[in-house]
Amino acid sequence: MKWFTTKNVFMILLLMTILLVTLFIMVRPNYWTALTKSKDHFIEHSNNSRILYEPNAKEYSDKIADYFPIALNIIKEKQLKTFLKPFNVYVCNSQKSHNEYLGENIQFPIRGTSLRGDVYIAPSAFNFEGLDTHKETLKHELSHLLFRQQLGFFKYRKIPHWFHEGFGDYLAGSGGEGIKEENAINFILSGKHFIVQEEGEIFGSFPKVMNGISYRMFHKQAKMFVTFIVNSDSLSFNTFLQNIQEGNNFSKSFQEEMNMSISDMWTKFTNQLDSN
Ligand SMILES: [Zn+2]
Repeated sequence: MKWFTTKNVFMILLLMTILLVTLFIMVRPNYWTALTKSKDHFIEHSNNSRILYEPNAKEYSDKIADYFPIALNIIKEKQLKTFLKPFNVYVCNSQKSHNEYLGENIQFPIRGTSLRGDVYIAPSAFNFEGLDTHKETLKHELSHLLFRQQLGFFKYRKIPHWFHEGFGDYLAGSGGEGIKEENAINFILSGKHFIVQEEGEIFGSFPKVMNGISYRMFHKQAKMFVTFIVNSDSLSFNTFLQNIQEGNNFSKSFQEEMNMSISDMWTKFTNQLDSN
């Protein structure tokens, strides 16, 4: 009897798909929630149809709508690229709702996220360490989104976490809230710092590169390092920034434009921290 019929092949593929989806749901239930959670209940903001808010998040969305055009201009001007596709900004009414779209079991109150082509803002953006950081949060997430639109998923993942987070913080004025610079310096000089990767890893994990420091400390240190790099030669940095957004290799472009390797730049950075 011939088993290799179109019908049998179809049944096998169907069973394999069901099996894979079931495994995915079992291993990553949060991702499944993120992929399937409806956005139909979001309400369009009257001033800007690209900004949508959940019931009870109107006040938050008013603030986001007010600042949105300014944030957009700042990011385009400083990141030297324009957005390639339309996107929405979803303003959530609770941290829980925001995290469900994110699909990760996050221990710290993440203020916003750039995900699957859109931006999500959590209520914690409006009250973070006692500060209203919605402007900074919006700009930070727009920076991530612009990189993602320029590069696509895989090339974006090849940019190390320290760079896209540190650069987003540098542009947005976010990052490391509540952490004193001298504290971050002491951490760096005693070896308690993030892993200074030369390249991102497509399947790499964020906690691994954080290397045991807190999320806020990671942002503080990454922002300090990126600020140091920019200030060392802002013109060369701009060329490097354009090169990597055109898909060129991160560490190679860095070496070519900044005239040193990333690890040498890190050494230079830590040496000047030590001499201050
Ligand atoms: Zn970020």
